[in-house]
Parts: sequence; C-alpha cells; structure tokens
Amino acid sequence: MPQSGLPDVSVPRRLSAPAPGWTTTADVIVVGSGIAGLTTALRLRRRVDRVLLVTKTVLDEGSTAWAQGGIAAVMSPEDSPAEHIHDTLVAGVGLCDVDAVRALVTEGTDAVWDLIALGADFDRGDTGKISLTREGGHHRDRILHAGGDATGREISRALIAALDRVRDDPGIEVIEHALVVDLLTDSDERVCGVTLHVIGEGQVDGVGAAHARAVVLATGGLGQIYASTTNPSVATGDGMAAALRAGAVLADLEFVQFHPTVLWLGEGSRGQQPLISEAVRGEGAFLVDEAGERFMQGQHALADLAPRDVVARAIIARMRETGTDHVYLDCRQLGAEFLEHRFPSIVARCRELGFDPATQLLPVAPAQHYASGGVRTDLRGRTSLEGLYACGETSCTGVHGANRLASNSLLEGVVFARRIADDLTARLGAGELPEAAPVASKGEPELVGSKRRLDIQRAMTAGAGTVRSATSLAATEQALGALAVRAATEDADQQGGPQSWETTNLLHLGRALAYAAALREETRGGHVREDFPSRDDDHFLHHVHLRRSGGVLAAEVVPVPRSNLEGLDLDASMPVDVLDEDRAEPAEGTVGASPAVRHTNSANGPEETA
Ligand SMILES: Cc1cc2nc3c(=O)[nH]c(=O)nc-3n(C[C@H](O)[C@H](O)[C@H](O)COP(=O)(O)OP(=O)(O)OC[C@H]3O[C@@H](n4cnc5c(N)ncnc54)[C@H](O)[C@@H]3O)c2cc1C
Repeated sequence: MPQSGLPDVSVPRRLSAPAPGWTTTADVIVVGSGIAGLTTALRLRRRVDRVLLVTKTVLDEGSTAWAQGGIAAVMSPEDSPAEHIHDTLVAGVGLCDVDAVRALVTEGTDAVWDLIALGADFDRGDTGKISLTREGGHHRDRILHAGGDATGREISRALIAALDRVRDDPGIEVIEHALVVDLLTDSDERVCGVTLHVIGEGQVDGVGAAHARAVVLATGGLGQIYASTTNPSVATGDGMAAALRAGAVLADLEFVQFHPTVLWLGEGSRGQQPLISEAVRGEGAFLVDEAGERFMQGQHALADLAPRDVVARAIIARMRETGTDHVYLDCRQLGAEFLEHRFPSIVARCRELGFDPATQLLPVAPAQHYASGGVRTDLRGRTSLEGLYACGETSCTGVHGANRLASNSLLEGVVFARRIADDLTARLGAGELPEAAPVASKGEPELVGSKRRLDIQRAMTAGAGTVRSATSLAATEQALGALAVRAATEDADQQGGPQSWETTNLLHLGRALAYAAALREETRGGHVREDFPSRDDDHFLHHVHLRRSGGVLAAEVVPVPRSNLEGLDLDASMPVDVLDEDRAEPAEGTVGASPAVRHTNSANGPEETA
C-alpha cells in the first residue's frame, strides 16, 4: 500500500443537522434531476409502486442544462462501436473499465434514440438527417447537438416535459428545493433512506427523513470545490460526500478534468465561468498565445483537438513560458454568420461580457469542468453499500478512467440510468431490498460555517488543481485540516443550513481528493504531478479506492489488468514533454490541422464538409 505522506484524515459519519421533524416513505428515492436522475425516475415509474424524486433547487438546475457540445453516440455508418470504444479507452489512459465502456457504447445508440422518442430535438441538416460533429479525442463525427450549442438545455427540457406529463401519477412524487443531507443506514449498514431539508409548505418543511428500499444518488459533480469551474452552483459534491460519510467506496477522485477553453474574465473571477465548447475547435477555431502563435500544432497528432488533458497542459505550459494567465482562442475565420447559427448561446454570452468571437480573440484558460471519479459502482450502478446506487457524474462506473472523452458524460448518465432502473425493477420485484429501520449513527457530527467556502476553494485551487505536487497537496491538506479543527471549535454550535452543509461537503470531498492525489505519484489523464511528470504503468496502473473506516479515510489500491493497455497508443495522450518528437508531428490532413476544416456530417452519411 503506497503512503500518501499526508496525516490521517478524519471523516465524520454525518453532518450536524436538526433531528427530522417529518417522515415520508417510497420504494426508491432518486436524488437529483439532471439527465441521470430524471432518466432513472422516468424509467422506474410504473415498474415500482412509489418513486420519490428530490432535487436541491428546481428541476432544470444542474450541469445537464449547461451542456453545450453534445452527446456522443455511434449514429453513422462510417462510425462503429469499436472505434468509439477505442477513443474512449485512449482518453481514459489505460484506466477505463473495458466492460463499462462496452456497455456505454453498445447501449448508447438505443439510449439516444429513446431520448429522441421522448421528444429531444437534435439539430438536423437540410435533408432532415441528424447532424453529427466531432470533438477532442474523437476520430469520427459522432456528437449529436441541439439548438447549436444548447444540447443539455434541450435534453433537460425534453426530460422535464416527460416528467410533467406524469406528474399527477400517484406512483411518482417530486419534491423541489429538497437538499439531501445524509444517508440513513440500518444495523447492517444497508442504506434505507436519506435525511433532507425541504423549503416547502405544510408538513414537508425543514429537516425530515425519507425512508426507502433503495436510494439512487444522481447529484452531479463537485466543481464548486475549486475557485473557478464551469459547473453551476449546485455542484457541491453532496451525493459523493454523503456516500463517503456513510462508508461507500469512492474511486478515481484524483482525476479531475479541467476544460482547456473557459472564458477568462480576470483574476478575481469566482464560481461558474462561461465555457467555450470544444465543438468550436471542432469547427475550426484554434488556440494562439499572446504573440498570436499557434502552439497546439506539433504537440499532438490531433493538434487543437487533442484530448482535453493534453490541451489543458499545453495551455498551462505556454502560460508559464510567457508569464501570462490566459491564452487566446481564435474563432474569427469561422465568420459571424456561421458562429451565430452554430453557437448562438456561446456567441450571445461572449458578447454580453464584452467579447465578440467573430472579430476578437477570446481570452481563455483552463478551469475545473468534470469529476471523472466518484462513488464506485458496478455495471448495474450498485455501490459498495447494499441499497445504494449512484448514477451520472456522481458515480464512477469506470467508463472515464483517468480522463473523460468529450460528450461521453451525458451518454453515461442516460445509459447507466437505464441499467439502474432495470436492476432495481428486477430486485424489488423479486422481493430483494426489504424495508429496513434506520439506526442512529455513532460519533460526533461535523459542520463548517459557510464563510469558509472561499478558503476551501482557494486551498484546492492552489494545491490540488491543474498541476499538483507532494508539497502543494500537503499544503492543501494542512489548510483543510485546520478548517476542520476550527469547525469543531468555532462552528460547533451551528445546527446547519443549506450553505453550511454544502460547504462541509466541499471540505470532506476536498480532503479525500487531495489524499487520493497524493497517493498517485505519476501524471496521467486529469491528474498532473509536476514532481512526477511521466506516466508510470509499472507502479500506478491501478485505481485508488477510498472509504471511511474507523472514522478516518482508508485507501485501497485496486490493480488494473495490463491487458487494458493492449492496442492503445497511449503516448498520444501523454504530456507534451514526454512525447517522442517524431510522433508529435501532426499527421497530414488530421482533424484541426486546418482552421478552415469543418466537421459536420449527418447520421446517414457525409452532409457538409469543407
Ligand atoms: C458548462 C458545461 C458544459 C458541458 N458540456 C457537456 C457536453 O457537451 N457533453 C457532455 O456529455 N457533457 C457535458 N458536460 C458534463 C455534463 O453536463 C454532466 O456531467 C452531466 O450533465 C451530469 O449529469 P447528472 O445528471 O449526473 O448531474 P446534474 O445534471 O449536475 O444534476 C445533478 C442534480 O442533483 C441535484 N442535487 C445536487 N445536490 C443535491 C442534494 N444534496 N440534494 C438533492 N439534489 C441535489 C442538482 O440540483 C441537480 O438537479 C458539461 C458540463 C458543464 C458544466
């Protein structure tokens, strides 16, 4: 077992919160209303008697509605599942679970057709065929998009409309403004419900308890753990943190994707920042430095469309070389008409903020975008705790490995939601997962005041962000550990509230993430160590599993078979400085080699190339 070099990290069983003042029951509780939660709840309805869907604010608040680029699926005869699987495995740098990737890709096409049948309206060309585009790391046109760059909003709209159509069905109950605080477990540590805080009316108001035979966590990502992120404010890792406190295994937390092209709004900008989708580069935009020099060509065969980790690292390297805090994205050659038609939301947002992509260079820098790790599940979405499932960005199904391939996350949400709903239908129908009585949890609860949030975000950004080292991670843990100590003294009398529960979740997950990152002494995918700049398959071809044991974090290393590396040219996803020079030359005619190349095809054959 490798040592993190960090001190023991204590994790309490629960957050401080008032005792539940009301109780409700269901067969299955689904927590979260993004693509993962809505798909699970809609598919479970009518197959089990009572589904309770709870969500922290309103139904369409979450990362799903912000997704721009699209959803990946094999939709064209020029593409094949084998190629999508291959691109996913390469992006995951040897750590993907091959069976999970196979499920994602082979079931993905049907899952997308289901979304279309449900009403999701993807963009089509003049002939009516679905338009497909390409994003970083994909070698085929396989990204469906909607409203140009508003794919997530359209998917969210279609799913919520489907939910609205069945809202009066007594088999499904929806509670908005319901923040899940912790998981309830029985005497066998089986999950049998949640505690939650509802801003409501009448009896269901304040902190209550919801009991169920199973709980599905679909609470999205953890972006707010960093000072700047593309994730909305609800992305505070609540589900992951609650699962960690309850004793579930979390995996691959160290692999955090930083999106290379996030609009840079100045040094003091905090919270959710505007994303400039990779699809903009897919259509021919490219990166330049302060001197106007293109720097992705010659670094990777896919140049500006290299996998995100490669592009983010190249940007960071160029920023360091030139002493700047951003580089630029040049979209000008795409022209105002094309940009406004293809990327209406991005163009409108940029102009609102004073940048015109049709005439100006856009300042961009990497910012947190996606958590590749999360609550470890098997292929059916089951976690290590009986009765607990996890889906979407909250989960770690194994499809992303060390780095998520662009547009695979919406697909993961919908494919694994279907799997979870099917597994739960079968199990509950067979009388498995009987009702159970929760027991009071042992140990002292913890709570950090909401005023500590910025301190946590700063410590995570400085030491556990885009580039890490043993020293920086130790400094992060020291700062977070000190906040936990202060919580026990200065903040101890608080009963909690949404802001402080979220802040404490950020603290618990931040400590776990830094711990996992300290254990991985190599650079791979979304985990970059400046003290260990190379990939090390001999010592780190494994997952780091973390769980709470005896009140502290315990790590387990789970090896990945070496056969995972067979047939993958992983050097293509390695950092620039370890690339073989000969291989680093861009291949002739490759994607992104020419700024004028556009990659929009139709689902049934090429429709538009230039
Ligand atoms: C700007 C942006 C662009 C993106 N573009 C793409 C793209 O083009 N393609 C792609 O595949 N992926 C993209 N992603 C990633 C993708 O959108 C997400 O990974 C995916 O939508 C996650 O879906 P989800 O259902 O797991 O979580 P979310 O959609 O984030 O939903 C989480 C839900 O859980 C709720 N919740 C959270 N905590 C609690 C709690 N304590 N109690 C109750 N409810 C809670 C939230 O309110 C929300 O309803 C993008 C992400 C962002 C931020």
